[in-house]
Amino acid sequence: MTSKRFQGRSVCVTGAARGLGAAIARSFAEAGAQVHIADVLDEEAAQLAAELRSEGLAAMAHHLDVSDESHWRQLVTTLNARDGGLDILVNNAGIIIRKSLAQTSKAEWDRAMSINVAGVFLGMQHCRPLLAAKAPSAIVNISSTAGIIAHGDPSYTASKWAVRGLTKSAALELSADGIRVNSVHPAMIATPLTFAAPKGHMEANRAVIPMGRESSPDEIANIVLFLASSEASFMTGSEVTADGGLTTGGIAHARARLQAAFADE
Ligand code: NAD
Repeated sequence: MTSKRFQGRSVCVTGAARGLGAAIARSFAEAGAQVHIADVLDEEAAQLAAELRSEGLAAMAHHLDVSDESHWRQLVTTLNARDGGLDILVNNAGIIIRKSLAQTSKAEWDRAMSINVAGVFLGMQHCRPLLAAKAPSAIVNISSTAGIIAHGDPSYTASKWAVRGLTKSAALELSADGIRVNSVHPAMIATPLTFAAPKGHMEANRAVIPMGRESSPDEIANIVLFLASSEASFMTGSEVTADGGLTTGGIAHARARLQAAFADE
């Protein structure tokens, strides 16, 4: 990406120290934005910011636990002082608890909800005045295919459906402020979160994704940049799947292959 379509824009990406968030932050920086890398992983966030600056790009790291309201207050104060506001917020930080309904404790449920859902809610609420001051501006919330269909882990699935609903509700309210709000729903992405999954997870996912593969973080970052750009100026409250066809026909895809296997028996 050589175009500087985000020159002069201030962008905050949560959970940007690694994985998808890091790819989103890099893409915005390469497109000319001043990027704010907000994460609980201070060392990795500082390292990425330094790497981007060494390439002549504009980046700064911030300590942010998205579930802690006092951290959002501090970040908003810093962003206001530093860039005079914020043009784009990407609520990307998220965790997954790969446990069934029977296995998930109340504490694990609360943790998933506080990071994946309350983190997005607090981000939109606290950044709203800054984004409104820079309107037209945009929020992009990272949900998942787990926010469109069911995954086996109920806390993750419920949290990602909540992000989808929260996005639509916020889109209604924030349109009066000139802030567009959209959600992105990826299937499996090649990130540390995926690499940490149990053995067989990646292979099984590839078998039900019609395109037969995971996405790269950059493929999802491209969609985030599009939604944040003026090219998506009439899109708000939209849910954009980027899943290699999984939610369109993962079942039909798997069934066709199973049917062929049974027919060969
Ligand atoms: P990852 O674990 O590789 O990175 C997540 C980042 O979020 C890390 O840097 C982590 O430190 C940060 N983070 C976690 N808790 C935080 C908190 N409380 N406050 C601030 N930062 C916090 O995961 P990823 O795959 O890059 O996931 C990014 C987003 O994409 C998540 O919302 C995830 O649910 C979503 N997603 C991932 C996949 C996938 O297959 N990897 C698929 C669909 C959606």
